[in-house]
Amino acid sequence: MKLDVDVLRYLSKDDFRVLTAVELGMRNHEIVPTELIDRIARLKHGCTYKVLKNLLKYKLLHHDSSKYDGFRLTYLGYDFLAIKTMVNKGVFVGVGRQIGVGKESDIFEVVREDGTVLAMKLHRLGRVSFRAVKSKRDYLRHRSSYNWLYLSRLAALKEFAFMKALETHGFPVPNAVEHNRHCVVMSLVQGYPLVQVKQLQNPETVFETIIGLVVRLAEHGLIHCDFNEFNIMIDDDEKITMIDFPQMVSVSHRNAQMYFDRDVECVFKFFMKRFNLSFQESIDDIDGSDDGRDEAGKPCFSAIERSAGFLDRELAASGFTRKDEEDIQRFIEGGAESDSNSDSEVVHIVEDLNETDMVDSDSSHLFPYFIFNKISWKRSTSCYFNDGNFNPQEESHQDAMENEAELVKSLNKQRRRAIAAARRGRETVAARNSYKDKGGRSSHNSKIQKQLSSW
Ligand code: ADP
Ligand code: MG
Repeated sequence: MKLDVDVLRYLSKDDFRVLTAVELGMRNHEIVPTELIDRIARLKHGCTYKVLKNLLKYKLLHHDSSKYDGFRLTYLGYDFLAIKTMVNKGVFVGVGRQIGVGKESDIFEVVREDGTVLAMKLHRLGRVSFRAVKSKRDYLRHRSSYNWLYLSRLAALKEFAFMKALETHGFPVPNAVEHNRHCVVMSLVQGYPLVQVKQLQNPETVFETIIGLVVRLAEHGLIHCDFNEFNIMIDDDEKITMIDFPQMVSVSHRNAQMYFDRDVECVFKFFMKRFNLSFQESIDDIDGSDDGRDEAGKPCFSAIERSAGFLDRELAASGFTRKDEEDIQRFIEGGAESDSNSDSEVVHIVEDLNETDMVDSDSSHLFPYFIFNKISWKRSTSCYFNDGNFNPQEESHQDAMENEAELVKSLNKQRRRAIAAARRGRETVAARNSYKDKGGRSSHNSKIQKQLSSW
């Protein structure tokens, strides 16, 4: 599944209405019954079905008739909803090329109205379950497909909250700009993942900076849990930026020591292999002491002084609750049991995805570079977001946001009404059934009841 932004220009307000209806229906349905979508969207007679067909054609929805006739959002459909909200909020006006494929995310360049380029991360929790590592990840088998919406949204919320908190405390992280659904927009890091770097001018200094970050994080009550060459960016001046935060945990986590040691170990191993560093020497050279470190020069978790409460105080205030943390940890730890170093899987998965359908081999027509050229900016914007709600020139961001909020509110009201009506119907049918059962003619009604019970 690839993000084909081009699709957006073929979508109408009705498409958006029905897509939103499906999203609302997924609050309590894995597959949303077609009739419920129709009742929520309330389009003119028969129109919902036409729109559903269109959305299916563009792969924004998935059709499922195994238990009853219904639909669910695909990641592409969810992408579209998040991107539309971001555009309405004025966060960015266009989407550019894909700049990263993570284990469970896709990263794109997006551009602001003033031409500033930012990074947009779309979380895709659950994607690996259908790929090469499926057999390794048994815990995913029981995951229902509406959970991935929830989990990806949680991952984005957590990433945003942590990035903001870390930035406030002076850590070198991207600037967190905005989040919506499974999408996080942040500043674009000028640099490359450390894994791509073959030579450094000052490997010892870079190494000490990175290890210093692991220690300072722990002093602030946090462990990255995926701190390795894939999640450390470095620029031409050898300045470090750390990324990728959904798996971070508190130092009071029951496995904190193991996660801390693993992060330290990853950095040591990488620098030893790639840059031939001998650690004891480098540490003595630079620090002149090995305080709080073991005989191999590795920082000891037990020796770190913590300023307690960082995680709870600041992150709880950000809207990321304890329950959110528990839910996401349950998911991550399920995976961690089988992965000793989770990002090392990335390479295989990226290969797998490249071979199949993640990255469009001829994506130049979808993400033309000229959209980042200021002169042609207006032209490309109107090409990408040129229907009613989407065109920033036709509708102010404020209007668009209000319209979107109103639409969600009114559709949600319809959803509640439809579900309540179905429940009432169920009660009536049940009452009639008990009467008819005596005469033994309940098969038709029990069929209806079965269908209604899916609401
Ligand atoms: P995942 O959680 O799936 O591992 P990451 O956040 O690590 O995703 O991002 C995957 C890749 O995308 C990174 O290795 C990096 O190359 C690129 N990337 C991520 N965030 C940014 C950013 N803010 N600026 C530039 N590139 C980024
Ligand atoms: Mg990563």
